[in-house]
Amino acid sequence: MISNSRIVPKHDPFDGDYSGNVFDGHLHGALYAMTGRQNPRTGINKIGLVIADRYESLPGAFGIMFDQRFVPNSSSRYLRVPREGCAIFLDAITSKRQSDEQLRELSFTVIHELGHVFNLQHTNATSFMRQSAGHPHVFRSDAFKFTQDDRYRLSQCTASRHIRPGGSAFEDLGDMANANTQKQSQLSTVLDLRIDLSSREFWRFEPIELDIQLYANGSRKKSIKIPNAMDPGHPQFCIWIDDPDGERWRYRPERRFCGGEGTLTLKPEETWWRDLAFFGQAGGYTFSKPGIHTVQVTLECHALGRVESNKLVVNILAARQDDPLYESAKSCFEAEAIGMLMHYRCFINRLPPGTNRLRDYCDAFSDHASAGMGRYKLGRAIVRRLKQDGKESVIGRFRHLASEELKQAVTDRSLGDGRRSKAEKDLLSL
Ligand SMILES: [Zn+2]
Repeated sequence: MISNSRIVPKHDPFDGDYSGNVFDGHLHGALYAMTGRQNPRTGINKIGLVIADRYESLPGAFGIMFDQRFVPNSSSRYLRVPREGCAIFLDAITSKRQSDEQLRELSFTVIHELGHVFNLQHTNATSFMRQSAGHPHVFRSDAFKFTQDDRYRLSQCTASRHIRPGGSAFEDLGDMANANTQKQSQLSTVLDLRIDLSSREFWRFEPIELDIQLYANGSRKKSIKIPNAMDPGHPQFCIWIDDPDGERWRYRPERRFCGGEGTLTLKPEETWWRDLAFFGQAGGYTFSKPGIHTVQVTLECHALGRVESNKLVVNILAARQDDPLYESAKSCFEAEAIGMLMHYRCFINRLPPGTNRLRDYCDAFSDHASAGMGRYKLGRAIVRRLKQDGKESVIGRFRHLASEELKQAVTDRSLGDGRRSKAEKDLLSL
């Protein structure tokens, strides 16, 4: 069995209690509490490993790797350290492994995740960088090693920023990349993918969400099973953005999952939907310049081929000085705590500073799409907080606040049906 031990860093947002569900925002906070202020330009000397019970975003994941976290509009480089740590999740490991295999799986996963911190990528070769969560048993001892290529990369840790933690972004391997490029698979004839955005014109700091719909195309009579990898944290799922200068780049998630995605069954004529926070990515805002951009999603579905979504044209608005709406929206959403609340849809313990200003903004500009989204995210974050910890002292006030925000979100047509029904579900749970 995995034994208990407690090492609690200073300023730990959880105060050492990592039981129950943990969220992305919490994990980034916990990692920062461990590593402290580190300057990636001069080189970092600490990396962190968070050991928690259960990962809310992907309960089947054995581990994840953190790239830079999202911090709105902050010029502080200390808050944007690439590949600074990882997390492992004991519940997923203990539920999928017999008790005599758990400790070996735990050691394998720890080294696998630390491998990602050194920018090592997944491989099918028998090695630490093979994904283990999808296998029925822990790998045999011959997998407890790195491939020759990865051993070479690790040996270059001091010399190369592409390997050293805190150096280049995850997957940016520069001259350390393998020459074997993956060949692109055939386009799927079975699946269709459609994307939309909660607004098509917005300032880059507005809490925009990307809506993703996946469905089997019309001719299909039977249900199909596909990996449930509809998140940019999975390598199969990519969001591509073409900027006004014609440059194409890939949206950068702040965390990378290692398997555990499970499967999704699509019945004929059924549409699967999800939304994801899209205005922020690893390191900062998704869009850095105003102008027309196009957004497209691709999904690799193994035997079913590659699915490409429609291309969405969006207009990132330029600053509009002396416009009360622009000035208010900017000061509300660019505030660090509110930006992070909008992106991670969670907060730790107390309501984040700026919550009252957010509520005032939503009242003053209630017709604007960002106000509806602000209420929706605040209301749902409070419900999440209540589910995590129902101490009587906080329940009353939080419940009242959440119910006020969610009642408005349920009737706000600009949010779309999917979000309105999520808001309704949360409201009923109060
Ligand atoms: Zn992995």
